Amino acid sequence: MSEGTTPRFRSVLDRFVAYKPGKVVVSPEGRSYKLSSNESPAGPLPSVVEAISAAALTVNRYPDNNCTALIDTISATFGVPADHVAVGCGSVGVTQMLLEAVAEPGAEVIYAWRSFEAYPLLVSLSGATSVQVTLRDEAHDLDAIADAITEHTRLIFICNPNNPTGTIVRRPELEAFLDRVPADCLVVLDEAYREYVRDDAVPDGLELYGDRPNLAILRTFSKAYGLAGLRIGFMVAHPEVAAAVRKTFLPFSVNAVVQAAAIASLAATDELLTRVESTVKERERVRDTLIADGWTVPPTEANFVWLRLNERTLDFSAACDAQGVSVRPFPGEGARVSIGSPEENDAFLAVAHTYPHRN
Ligand code: PMP
Repeated sequence: MSEGTTPRFRSVLDRFVAYKPGKVVVSPEGRSYKLSSNESPAGPLPSVVEAISAAALTVNRYPDNNCTALIDTISATFGVPADHVAVGCGSVGVTQMLLEAVAEPGAEVIYAWRSFEAYPLLVSLSGATSVQVTLRDEAHDLDAIADAITEHTRLIFICNPNNPTGTIVRRPELEAFLDRVPADCLVVLDEAYREYVRDDAVPDGLELYGDRPNLAILRTFSKAYGLAGLRIGFMVAHPEVAAAVRKTFLPFSVNAVVQAAAIASLAATDELLTRVESTVKERERVRDTLIADGWTVPPTEANFVWLRLNERTLDFSAACDAQGVSVRPFPGEGARVSIGSPEENDAFLAVAHTYPHRN
């Protein structure tokens, strides 16, 4: 009999805090504006709700574990072969699958920091070691990332646009960087916010990966496609990478309802992208208003803005909370604020306008 009083857990669990989702706050007057999770402010389209309702009638059966209809629809919509596609439970699920495919103790995974907060968590869980490369002027420092590559590097995340700063990597610098990465090291271009990009200098990963067998493109239905609550994301890469990633799929983890919803959403792409256009317009209005108010806001190509507030971050976040506006604070660094509906954005701008300190 073992001596311990509790089951033995992996030591890695002691070393990090679990993922913290964006919070919801309510003001004393009962107002609540959730700008903490980069979601689409609009509810699902009627055609998508109809597909969800129809699929609900089938849930006594297991879903299609191969997600064949969905993968075929992704393939047709994005003009990529079906065997280049792998799907997962959100793109965060696909990120975990990617790490399960390439990471193990002793392996290194490089990414910019600060970037998407799930990267360090999932890297730790995989047993690999995180190598974080500090942002320069709020953006990826690709030279420093390339310099950090060692013989142990298995995977590099490039988040474009970067969460939480909204900053971008341009095509020539990305290509020059990719040329420096050894062929046996995978680069994952996380394009969760691709649909919000309006700067032509930002490459479309789907146009880049064709002649690069070590490049994988990550996309999600959670943002522009408005399905954050149902959990579906996908990866596009060369068939060898897609096959390796598919092997790590948790059986049935992409359910029947989300498969149907994603197919219906792809059929309504034009309508959904019209909504994205409103978010982009609002993004420019929010940023211009903040700048006119004396704030420093890096140019953003995503559906959020970044305020580097340093030691005032939590104070600012509390001021937002008091008005029912939830933002995403990263204590000691800054606050990320999602672009919501015009009313939600006005509520945030009102707090920013009256906040006594500029950044
Ligand atoms: N990548 C980035 C950069 C993100 O910001 C997010 C969501 N916050 C994701 C991936 C994960 O999205 P999901 O799992 O909902 O597809």
